[in-house]
Amino acid sequence: MDLSHELEETRRCQLIEVTIDSLAELGYVGTTLAQIAGRAGVSSGLVAHYFGDKDGLLAAAFRSLARRVSDQVRMRLRQVSTPRSHIQAVIDANLAPEEFDQRTGSAWLAFWGQVLHVKSLRRVQSVYQRRMLTTLRSSLRRLVSPDQAQSLAAMIAAMIDGVWLRAALSGWREADSASARALLTEFVDQRLESERLKAEAQGAGAEGHRSGGGSRGGEHAGVPERFASINPATGEVLGYVKAAGPAEINAAVRAAQRGQQQWAAMTGAERARVLRRAAQALRSRNQELAELESRDTGKPIQETLVVDVISGADCLEYFAALAQSLSGEHIDLGPQAFGYTRREPLGVVAGIGAWNYPLQIACWKAAPALACGNAMIFKPAELTPFTAVKLEEILLEAGLPPGVFQVVQGFAQTGRLLTHHPDIRKVSLTGEVATGKAVMADAAQTLKNVTLELGGKSPLIIFEDAKLDNAVAGALLGNFYSTGQVCSNATRVFVHASIKAEFLERLVKRVSVMRIGDPMDPATQVGPLVSEQHMHKVLKYIERGRTEGARLLIGGHRLTTGNLARGYFVAPTVFDECRDDMAIVREEIFGPVMSVLSFSDEREVIERANATPFGLAAGVFTNDLTRGHRVIAELQAGTCWLNHYNVTPIELPFGGVKMSGLGRENGRAAIEHYTQLKSVYVALADVEAPY
Ligand code: NDP
Repeated sequence: MDLSHELEETRRCQLIEVTIDSLAELGYVGTTLAQIAGRAGVSSGLVAHYFGDKDGLLAAAFRSLARRVSDQVRMRLRQVSTPRSHIQAVIDANLAPEEFDQRTGSAWLAFWGQVLHVKSLRRVQSVYQRRMLTTLRSSLRRLVSPDQAQSLAAMIAAMIDGVWLRAALSGWREADSASARALLTEFVDQRLESERLKAEAQGAGAEGHRSGGGSRGGEHAGVPERFASINPATGEVLGYVKAAGPAEINAAVRAAQRGQQQWAAMTGAERARVLRRAAQALRSRNQELAELESRDTGKPIQETLVVDVISGADCLEYFAALAQSLSGEHIDLGPQAFGYTRREPLGVVAGIGAWNYPLQIACWKAAPALACGNAMIFKPAELTPFTAVKLEEILLEAGLPPGVFQVVQGFAQTGRLLTHHPDIRKVSLTGEVATGKAVMADAAQTLKNVTLELGGKSPLIIFEDAKLDNAVAGALLGNFYSTGQVCSNATRVFVHASIKAEFLERLVKRVSVMRIGDPMDPATQVGPLVSEQHMHKVLKYIERGRTEGARLLIGGHRLTTGNLARGYFVAPTVFDECRDDMAIVREEIFGPVMSVLSFSDEREVIERANATPFGLAAGVFTNDLTRGHRVIAELQAGTCWLNHYNVTPIELPFGGVKMSGLGRENGRAAIEHYTQLKSVYVALADVEAPY
């Protein structure tokens, strides 16, 4: 922001503050432009310059109050992770002591009184209400049925307004912030408990595995941490799951320790046999597991049938082969001695998964861990809890000793119980950068090893000599597979200026005929986003792209025709004329949003591609192989593709550099991360001592 803009902003803010003072003292009618100008010591013309008329000024002041509450909600939401604590964040921010303060409260009251008469105020109020309802509804949907979530969200919003209004009308004598919040908290707890009992009486849903009846989130005693998993295509509840608390985690670790001793004592060949049988079972149950994965994640069945389960099976087979060939080194130390190294398991390790490839991520972590003789406790993302449990069943049936692979359910708190546990020797996380930092900091307390597979904002560079249809196909694979929810996606597509028009024409033609719809329909190519909350995040980025000046070529909106209205569908979106400083180009969106940028020089594009804190993946399309390898050698990314995008064979190590992660999954490299070396010195001669 330049200085003059900053000054203007400061002056606007001052005038808004003066308006709030005036409203608090004189009410709506007494507040006039001239009066505000007098108080602020400026001319009425200046006030009019900034805000137009009185309605404009009051709408700006109202917006400023509403924005402050929204910022508070957002800040509190960032600090907590369970649905119940999200609801509490809304209550606490809206009924915070500062909203009960005489000055702010009187200004709010003046606005409420005018909402029915002044259109601009009504608009602010409806945005404010809609935002509150959306946050409440999406958290409640994780706890109760969608219908209940709808009505309970409306009740909570009405109670927040009602409690506040009564307090205001009584001159702040009837209730204060603390008692208002206590009232709401009790109301929400009671309603949730009664819904829970009702659902239990009806035997609703499949209880999650190793859920532990008494587990608590800790923040709101009396509210069991029981959450629903939602089908994002329909908004329907798929089943209920209980979060594991400290008691369940301790029990899981003890069982894992017992199992691991037995498992590590088996030969590599015996372990390999179990892993191969599990791979076989995954293949033979592909249809059933792919359907479950599609319901839980919303990914099209045409994807889950060919990627998610099969990639898990490939991974188990690959590491089964390595289990049989794990070896150390012999080191010649001359005639008096030799040395050797043993590759030993770490013991009990933890895996924590993201929601985009739940079963695949569970397999990618379990297979190397188990091949090396470790036991693994795995926590899937709370949005997608089901298929990891199936993997546990399959491994047990394949002959894995009990306790060696266990699934625990829950939110970040459950993850933290794993990262803090002194008897867990390693954590492998797939998740966001912020989560990676938190996990690494927690793991440091007990000096655990960490593998972090984190987010990205990967570049795809298309040179003027590239085979254009292949480049278009690569860009499509790198942006719209799994509805754009792929960590390695190429969301910054740099196209040489000389071919950009032709590239875009072919690209948009293919995007315009993509089939979006029911993930269970084999013809569907693009499903919904994983949750309502995530959909709003993606839509907000699209809006930012527009306001920052990118040119929308296609998509850019939620899809609500027919049955799509029940789910969280966003049209595949392409922005052209993007700049490197735009939010859509800098930040990970994790949705179907492609940003196209133009370049004209090899050096320039390498520098721009590397100008990001992320470093997960990158792609280059060119027919000049010398250039291809030269450019790839300079790209700061852990995984690169030359003339393809987003293919991840198990044989190739996968992982990021810079803020995109630490360590590697897949390939022989993964073995390094699930074993520790023991060095052994063997004497071949007598021992001499100088004493
Ligand atoms: P999150 O980081 O939100 O969550 C990942 C997992 O960590 C979840 O199981 C989550 O639990 C858990 N968790 C959250 N906070 C903590 C904590 N403090 N301690 C321990 N565990 C915690 O990621 P998403 O699930 O939203 O997944 C999307 C992200 O994953 C994107 O950034 C994407 O790029 C990245 N990703 C990276 C991949 C890679 O291989 N590099 C592959 C796939 C995705 P809960 O869900 O219950 O909150």
